[in-house]
Amino acid sequence: MKAKVNKDACIGCGSCTAIASDVFEFEDDGLAVAKNENITEENKEEVRDAAESCPTSAIEVEE
Ligand code: SF4
Repeated sequence: MKAKVNKDACIGCGSCTAIASDVFEFEDDGLAVAKNENITEENKEEVRDAAESCPTSAIEVEE
């Protein structure tokens, strides 16, 4: 699985970083980034939930 944050759409709301804190984090610009190296079998569902919860649909998930 791969996740990607479209920074042009991210508004830095913090939803993804709260739902899947192992995978999404804020960068210095206040926008989220996905750490694909931290995606595991255990947190895949959280990554999907984070993508679905993003208010601007900024997260793309590739299964
Ligand atoms: S949930 Fe979406 S808008 Fe909010 S910080 Fe994450 S990527 Fe950005």
